[in-house]
Amino acid sequence: MESIKDLIREARAEIQKAPTDRALGDTEVKWLGRKGRLTEILRNLKNLSERERKAQGAEANRARIELEALIRDRRIELRSAAAKTELARERIDVTLPGRALRHGRMHPLTRALDEIRGIFEQLGFSAIDGPEIETEWYNFDALNIPADHPARDMWDTFWLRSNQNLKSKNEKGKSGQKLLLRTHTSPVQVRYMEKHAPPYRIIVPGKVYRYEATDASHDVEFHQVEGLMVDRDISVAHFKHVIRHFFERYFGAKKLSVVLRPSFFPFTEPSFEVMVNCIQCDAKRCAVCKRTGWLEVAGAGMVHPNVFKNAGLNPKGLQGFAFGFGVERLAMLKYKIPDIRLFHSSDPRFLKQF
Ligand SMILES: [Zn+2]
Repeated sequence: MESIKDLIREARAEIQKAPTDRALGDTEVKWLGRKGRLTEILRNLKNLSERERKAQGAEANRARIELEALIRDRRIELRSAAAKTELARERIDVTLPGRALRHGRMHPLTRALDEIRGIFEQLGFSAIDGPEIETEWYNFDALNIPADHPARDMWDTFWLRSNQNLKSKNEKGKSGQKLLLRTHTSPVQVRYMEKHAPPYRIIVPGKVYRYEATDASHDVEFHQVEGLMVDRDISVAHFKHVIRHFFERYFGAKKLSVVLRPSFFPFTEPSFEVMVNCIQCDAKRCAVCKRTGWLEVAGAGMVHPNVFKNAGLNPKGLQGFAFGFGVERLAMLKYKIPDIRLFHSSDPRFLKQF
């Protein structure tokens, strides 16, 4: 009897001293486990006389119940202390300045293309796609630029190595046609006219490629928007109105002056360069307009009869205009971007400004 009381005193002290939940677990095993000291006593009861067994048995059971209760209480105590420490350690300081979320933004070119498409769609123009890998026929010949014509030098071309599959699928059936990366979006004019009957009112936004040295205003890869409007009696006056309306909307200018300066393109006759008054200096003469007060913003002209013929149309009674401009150039003018190469730079300092 005495020894059980001593055991309990010893066990109680040990339980109270257990520093952690884990240490308490060890203590529990030591006293109440299968080979524990109290378990040992209970097991040895069978060797005692019946009287002693009853007395000691009752005592040992009370001891077991008491120790179990002590361990349970101590465990709760230790766990809540540990939880408090944990909470204190993980406390969130709501007064610390937050970390800003970095939002993705629309690329300035995507934005420009969307705006351009939107303005022309309101004028009844549909946006059409075409292939970036083109045949020599669509990129040059169909546009009235034969192989020996000096005008071919106007476009520095990336030629592709011949590819048997593409050769055999050539729409014109001209086997052995050379393939290239289109140098302008103009070939889509012919592709579209081949498949659709006039009248036409389309724009062709897309990527074009030029084999040339890059600098602040030239890149090997850029975007162009081609436009085509054809009906029985579409005139230069129609063109001037459409293009002025477009540039006024795009640059957000109340009134722009548009001047057509004579030029040359093999696929239009007459051809002109489209000039608008400088949007930066309002004719006060700045560096952007090279002190002329004018900006060259597009190339255009009346569709050459040969282009209609090459698209399989009878040019008699058909009349219309075609135009083209560089999307990067327009975005550079609008947002005062000094270097065309910034568009492909992926520099977040540049991109986050839009
Ligand atoms: Zn200017």
